[in-house]
Amino acid sequence: MKPVQPEPYDAIVIGAGFAGLSAAVRLVERGARVVVVEARRQLGGRATAFRDPQTGEWVDNGQHLLLGCYRETLAFLDTIGARDRVAVQPSLAVSFVDRGGRASSLACPMLPSPLHLLGGVLAWDALGVKDRLAVFNLVPAIRLAMAELRGGERRAASPGETVENWLIRNGQTARLREMLWDPLAIAALNQSPATAAAPYFSRVLAEMLAAGAQGSAIVLPLVPLHEMYAEPARAWLESRGSRVLAGAPARVVVEAAKVRQVSTAAGAFTAPAVVAAVAWHALPSLVEGDTAPLAGIVDAAAGTSASSIVTVNLWTKGRALASPFVGLPGRTVQWVFDKRAILGRGASHLSLVSSAADHLDSCSNDAVIQLAIEEVSDALPEMRGNTIVRANVVRERRATFSLAPGQPPRPHARTPVAGLFLAGDWIETGLPGTIESAVRSGHAAAEAAVQGHP
Ligand SMILES: Cc1cc2nc3c(=O)[nH]c(=O)nc-3n(C[C@H](O)[C@H](O)[C@H](O)COP(=O)(O)OP(=O)(O)OC[C@H]3O[C@@H](n4cnc5c(N)ncnc54)[C@H](O)[C@@H]3O)c2cc1C
Repeated sequence: MKPVQPEPYDAIVIGAGFAGLSAAVRLVERGARVVVVEARRQLGGRATAFRDPQTGEWVDNGQHLLLGCYRETLAFLDTIGARDRVAVQPSLAVSFVDRGGRASSLACPMLPSPLHLLGGVLAWDALGVKDRLAVFNLVPAIRLAMAELRGGERRAASPGETVENWLIRNGQTARLREMLWDPLAIAALNQSPATAAAPYFSRVLAEMLAAGAQGSAIVLPLVPLHEMYAEPARAWLESRGSRVLAGAPARVVVEAAKVRQVSTAAGAFTAPAVVAAVAWHALPSLVEGDTAPLAGIVDAAAGTSASSIVTVNLWTKGRALASPFVGLPGRTVQWVFDKRAILGRGASHLSLVSSAADHLDSCSNDAVIQLAIEEVSDALPEMRGNTIVRANVVRERRATFSLAPGQPPRPHARTPVAGLFLAGDWIETGLPGTIESAVRSGHAAAEAAVQGHP
């Protein structure tokens, strides 16, 4: 296949999710001319939106929350001029309704971290006195995790222990786990605390608490996900002479431990650097030719398990929710987002989110909708009189990679193939499969590509 590129590119980026777009933007900042090749017509990968055929509304493929400690993501949004498309809380504040239907709010005062979190938990009336005081038992482990983040050698958690075991070992009561740590772990790791490895959770806590009081604050997208970053990134890249090609599945052809070309249905591209920013499960079919040098990476990617997220979107007639979002600890639907309050005009649905949702794989959509409606009606009085006019289910079966102990190792940006670099949330960043992991991996791959192969 003959190269079709009209002008030479310095780099080809495959995949237009957070990892690929942040890699492309960083490469352009370093002076490169880039072509981004994306298989789907819509940009954004696992953080995107689609138009609901019945209502015409943009619906996210799943509600995404960022945290104040997502420093490289927020810097990326700054660079592409999209920082105003998210709202950052001044300090962590979340409304909850527990399994018994009792509403409460965790509101962290404006104190230096981690005092703000301790202050918030001590004042939280969802917890008994014993549960509130138990938070102090975790302080030594959190200190260790923060020291580890700064390069300290002692480990805050062992790779073989689960989040649940780690919390119990560190004196966290059942009520404090159910109300605070489990919802946080399920949201951040997309895996049950009973199966996820503890070091990922201690790392998340360290990242949140090392970044000041706002590090643990919630950052909410104010527009559908593709508009939040993917389309602004495309516009930024194209206005600087780079190109974004959507609807173009790519293959990386490897020959003699070098990239020969990137082939697409539209033709072939060559460049000194190729950043493959696809999800772990897409890597094995991305590479072809003499792929033996990549065997270790490809086998590990193929052997990595996935964890699912299921979202039920409801269009209702009736009252808005009391808060734009509310946590429902201990239920299958862990969070409800009132998109009318978050996105404003143009949105009229609620998003009911179930993370770590592999157990819903075998349930029909009707059964999932029924369960979700029952749970939110039980928890939220304002839902009870609402008429549901439409519902849909979005299943992301491979939302994130598994963080269970014993999963295959995660690769680094550099590969044994000259000119080929890897990005994606699953690259070894130390973080769970999150937007921030994707962006950090994208930046790292771009920097490695600029330096070239050793
Ligand atoms: C429902 C849901 C909710 C989530 N909630 C949160 C949250 O609240 N907070 C958070 O931080 N994270 C959340 N995540 C995780 C977050 O979405 C991901 O970590 C992040 O989007 C991964 O970005 P990525 O660029 O690494 O991969 P992807 O987004 O998967 O991008 C890879 C891209 O590569 C493309 N591609 C694949 N193969 C090829 C090929 N051969 N040629 C060309 N292109 C190809 C794909 O089409 C895709 O666009 C959630 C994920 C889901 C699914």
